[in-house]
Amino acid sequence: MTNPQPHTPRLIVLDPGHGSTPGVLGYDPGCCDGPRTEAAANLEAALTLKSLLVGKGFRVVLTHDGNDGPKPDLSWRVSMAARLGAAAFVSLHYDMVFPDARHLSGVYYAPGEASKRLADALLPALRTCTGQWCNPSNSSRFNGLYIDSFPDAKPSVLIELDSLRHAPPAGTAGREARLALLRPIADVLAASIR
Ligand SMILES: [Zn+2]
Repeated sequence: MTNPQPHTPRLIVLDPGHGSTPGVLGYDPGCCDGPRTEAAANLEAALTLKSLLVGKGFRVVLTHDGNDGPKPDLSWRVSMAARLGAAAFVSLHYDMVFPDARHLSGVYYAPGEASKRLADALLPALRTCTGQWCNPSNSSRFNGLYIDSFPDAKPSVLIELDSLRHAPPAGTAGREARLALLRPIADVLAASIR
């Protein structure tokens, strides 16, 4: 294994949670807030984060673009990232809408010190709220998450950006709010992924 040349941009794989193409068999909207789907909000967040990271000199590949047919299998998303030799796997989600309209943010990390380190670094960059968490994936209600199958030596995390109710508005109306939400996350990723 040779080290990449200094000029080789590092690759980060971003995973817009859920998806993929509305109306296609297997489409998974994630949670919903009226007509708004988590899948669409996740994709917008991933595209914004991609543009920020590309601006910092990274290569970025998305596991899907919401327009490519059946939803890619969850474990495939991670194995695709591993096959590409990604330096990190970052899955982006919004959480369900709570009756009290509370804000929410947190990060789950896969087994391995690299994942925990990145999660610890990301926590202050997430939207501030009470009850914010940084937890191992096996503490989730699923007792483990698909991010776990990324190689332990490299960071693999799943971020809950907020409740879907508090996601920036879709499209250009939410552009500035999306940038404000994701810029601190891009800064941490750029400082942490080497
Ligand atoms: Zn989700």
